[in-house]
Amino acid sequence: MVEILVASGNAKKLRELEAVLAELGIGGVELVSMRDVEPYPEPTEDGLTFADNALIKARAGAAATGLACVADDSGLAVDALRGMPGVLSARWSGTHGDDDANNALLLAQMSDIGLRDCAFVSCCALVTPAGDEFTAEGRWEGTLLRAPRGENGFGYDPIFAPGDAGGKSAAELSAAEKNARSHRARALRGLAPSIAALAGSARA
Ligand code: IMP
Repeated sequence: MVEILVASGNAKKLRELEAVLAELGIGGVELVSMRDVEPYPEPTEDGLTFADNALIKARAGAAATGLACVADDSGLAVDALRGMPGVLSARWSGTHGDDDANNALLLAQMSDIGLRDCAFVSCCALVTPAGDEFTAEGRWEGTLLRAPRGENGFGYDPIFAPGDAGGKSAAELSAAEKNARSHRARALRGLAPSIAALAGSARA
């Protein structure tokens, strides 16, 4: 059994990874939450790409605990803004985590722009105690709405219409509908073979 730390304060991310491993039949893995390890200082997420930031978080978790560590970084990439808000998604309006202000600013910036293509992007990283590093990216393509719709989810969900959601916003999908197709699920599925290989080598 290999222990893997999921370096996120959000317990939902551990359950999402658990669900993906179960879906793919990957066993021999025990997921460890941040609550189960000695607290350690959060690293500064100063990377310029999702992969940079995911690796910064996964390296910090592996170094602090001696466990293999999975971390992710994600955001909204708008084509007309050349991929921004991107790694600045959480603090686009200047205040970290102010979803309403982030959405309002983005809609205002895009008000005259007809090209609405955008995607939620997630990069998941796995860093092993031996220092091996793996990353996988998942994209969920869609369009930017002109006004918020829906009450579910978080962040940019109310202003993002996934291409595979029949015209609904991501905030109008149930958690199960969103989790099955989201950028994070796709990235986690991409990382799963590396996790399986780690679990396999731990069993051997
Ligand atoms: P984090 O990587 O989970 O910290 O997410 C960074 C930021 O990207 C969040 O604060 C949101 O603004 C945005 N974001 C990432 N994933 C999603 C999503 O699934 N829905 C809506 N917004 C998201």
